[in-house]
Amino acid sequence: MKPVIALVGRPNVGKSTLFNRLTKTRDAIVADFAGLTRDRHYGQGRQGKHEYIVIDTGGFEPDASKGIFKEMAKQTRQAVAEADVVLFVVDARDGLSAQDHDIGNYLRRLGKPCVLVANKAEGMKAGAQLAEFYELGLGEVYPVSAAHGQGVRELIELALGPLNVQDPEAQTIEDVEAKPVRLALAGRPNAGKSTLINTWLGEERLVAFDMPGTTRDAISVPFERNGQQFELIDTAGLRRKGRVFESIEKFSVVKTLQAIEDANVVVILIDATEGVTDQDAHIAGYVLESGRAVVVAINKWDAVDDYQRQLVERAIETRLGFLKFAALHYISAVKRQGLGPLWASIVQAHKAATCKMPTPVLTRVLMEAVQYQTPKKVGAYRPKPRYAHQGGMNPPVIVVHGNSVEHITDAYKRFLEGRFRKEFDLVGTPLRIELKTSH
Ligand code: GDP
Ligand code: GDP
Repeated sequence: MKPVIALVGRPNVGKSTLFNRLTKTRDAIVADFAGLTRDRHYGQGRQGKHEYIVIDTGGFEPDASKGIFKEMAKQTRQAVAEADVVLFVVDARDGLSAQDHDIGNYLRRLGKPCVLVANKAEGMKAGAQLAEFYELGLGEVYPVSAAHGQGVRELIELALGPLNVQDPEAQTIEDVEAKPVRLALAGRPNAGKSTLINTWLGEERLVAFDMPGTTRDAISVPFERNGQQFELIDTAGLRRKGRVFESIEKFSVVKTLQAIEDANVVVILIDATEGVTDQDAHIAGYVLESGRAVVVAINKWDAVDDYQRQLVERAIETRLGFLKFAALHYISAVKRQGLGPLWASIVQAHKAATCKMPTPVLTRVLMEAVQYQTPKKVGAYRPKPRYAHQGGMNPPVIVVHGNSVEHITDAYKRFLEGRFRKEFDLVGTPLRIELKTSH
């Protein structure tokens, strides 16, 4: 499982900026004033060999009348509790403040791995200017500049190095083939996840239901369907009670994200009676970024009238348009409607995500595409693709080699993607195309 990093600190020290730097997304708001109310933001990223999940807590909104601990959102504490390591961000330019002391005391008491990060330290030396931060009693002060990207890579090495996480690229094709299909169900509380799981598990032969919990209480339920092995990954917001799953009050976004990372195929379950919410779109965006195969299921279709159905269909177009490659099903978990086709799409998505694409076939499709439409000349460069090979699976990665191919436009990349998708019938999986200029 990917380790979880929580960014903690008072407002305006640069947590959002660091979050953006670590995730390369523009998901978090960067604002130049204190007191802006924000939600937590979640993202995923990679620095060197380290992959991780980042939470920008943004939750230490100070209120002098209430004191920081009361104000400190429950959510922030939950994020810290779920993190493997906390990056406590302070402002190297502002110096140490009373709030920093409060937060520092809190973190010290937790005894969780914590790295003290002095941000905005561009042009500063580790010595005298940062000396005051040692007062926090959290050990070494680590200077970075989130805005300029200085020290960030080393910071991650420092923070995650001791966790000794396995390099995700070490996964081979044989590994993927030999293992059961790992399935995660993602959706908001009340979407119908436990209902659907119980329906599935009621129908299927459970291989070994009572598996001891492994790391971080992860539970997985192996089962078999049509001779194929599956494993249902511990899905956030659910708990097993005897032989059935039930929803729990506490909904952990981090657990959902980890389940997504851990899966081969993710079923995104959306409650039709609620429509497509921001949170649904956010989860879907995360699944896309993670590269997992995906199937979208709109649940409770039995409980909505024609008008609501139209609204949902339109919302899918506008809000989930980026998942066009995924199969879409309208189902009722309670009435057991649409579950057969949903299952067929799950199997299909997994097959697409793990398909083998021989170099000669990839190269033929590439050359046919080029013949149909040559890549545009960009400045002095005329990209000339020569061959392609498969660089990975789940998601499939196609590496295109040739002259100046890094100048291929996004539009042309999408054109190629369409060609490859058609050839290999890649329904239900993201596809990545990498461009490698040969010299
Ligand atoms: P947050 O409230 O902790 O999330 O802080 P923000 O990320 O919103 O940043 C607050 C302000 O500090 C913004 O104006 C940023 O542009 C600025 N800032 C962030 N990182 C750096 C940095 O490394 N150097 C400098 N000089 N300014 C920074
Ligand atoms: P979870 O929080 O995602 O696990 O959701 P649950 O499975 O606990 O379902 C939440 C509520 O929605 C329960 O009252 C279910 O009976 C109801 N529900 C689940 N699936 C359907 C469905 O297909 N149709 C209707 N009408 N209700 C459903």
